[in-house]
Amino acid sequence: MRKIAILGSTGSIGTQTLDVVRANKDIEVRALAAGSNIRLLEEQIREFHPQLAAVWEEERAKELALRVRDMDVRVVSGMEGLLELAVMPGYEILVTAIVGMIGIRPTMAAMEAGKDIALANKETLVTAGHLIMPLAQKMGVQILPVDSEHSAIFQSLNGERQNRLHKILLTASGGPFRGRTREELRTIRVEDALKHPNWSMGRKITIDSSTMVNKGLEVMEARWLFGVSMDQVQVVVQPQSVIHSMVEFEDGAVIAQLGTPDMKLPIQYALYYPERRFLAGERLDFAKLGQITFEAPDMVNFEGLALAYEAGRAGGTLPAVFNAANERAVEKFLNREIGYLSITEMIRASMEHHRVIPGPSVDEILAAEQETYDFIESRW
Ligand code: NAD
Ligand code: MG
Repeated sequence: MRKIAILGSTGSIGTQTLDVVRANKDIEVRALAAGSNIRLLEEQIREFHPQLAAVWEEERAKELALRVRDMDVRVVSGMEGLLELAVMPGYEILVTAIVGMIGIRPTMAAMEAGKDIALANKETLVTAGHLIMPLAQKMGVQILPVDSEHSAIFQSLNGERQNRLHKILLTASGGPFRGRTREELRTIRVEDALKHPNWSMGRKITIDSSTMVNKGLEVMEARWLFGVSMDQVQVVVQPQSVIHSMVEFEDGAVIAQLGTPDMKLPIQYALYYPERRFLAGERLDFAKLGQITFEAPDMVNFEGLALAYEAGRAGGTLPAVFNAANERAVEKFLNREIGYLSITEMIRASMEHHRVIPGPSVDEILAAEQETYDFIESRW
């Protein structure tokens, strides 16, 4: 029996992780954490019987504790609760399916306690990759990518660890607004941006996919996971989302992983690595598909990707500023407080305003996050 804990069990990745658990029947869920959706968390507790449940909001945690008082589960709250969950004995893999830099401390605490990480929470790696990758090495724990592109790269590297990677070819769908000009993007509404052509995901990442900021975060994520430079990660637009990413070796050979767009595959692969298991669902039908097409990404109209390269190359606290500004901007866009193009404007202004600290500690990363939030509040 594999034993896991999930940070963010009520979200898109969290619920799909539980779908994988339900289908396989040989994984035990020892702990679950969520932000505020205690109705769904209660259902999950009744189905999966974890020993510990963490709810971010204290009031909601108290409410949940009352609702599940007939169950053998302890309910904790806040950052303390997430940290307690991270280090608790009795599980081996922490699935980080939470959104944002809030994942940094619990992820690192779990690693220090010897847990492997099935990592979906890309913001953590983007902003603290320089701390997380050496910690993984030091503790001898594995970081198993859940992000579909990174899982594809990870799968493409099977049996090739001794060979040097020449390049990572990170595929992108281009999102729902591929081919549009800045002028056309100006009037995009929330409803339009929440419709991703190929993937069904949480709200923040769906907006990030439409602006290409998600791809920018993924370039930085890939650079840490696979130990390459920013310039070795090339984005290739492939609108059908069939090729999930590729690697190019020194001899020019390109290896890719293909499949239908279903996050359960990378989730299941991370949970059972290196074993593959049966997965129900649609299979690729190449005759029906007909063609797979490729384009270069448009970094002029989709400035988010260009800014991500800039942040990643500069390093230090700049990726944290990029990420924090985007997070706040997306929140404001979703609340209809700002227009679509203001998302990248806020990121650019925040990056310009920030003085980079090289090799930052967790405290310095979180201070850069706060500074960015304050800057945005003062300017917009
Ligand atoms: P989501 O918004 O659907 O779910 C987020 C989860 O985190 C929810 O369970 C929420 O309750 C929980 N959460 C948020 N704040 C919390 C807090 N303070 N304390 C405890 N729990 C908290 O997000 P998602 O789409 O599942 O994405 C999760 C992560 O996975 C993100 O980093 C995203 O970039 C990454 N990712 C998602 C997909 C996808 O298909 N959804 C694909 C690749 C990567
Ligand atoms: Mg992805």
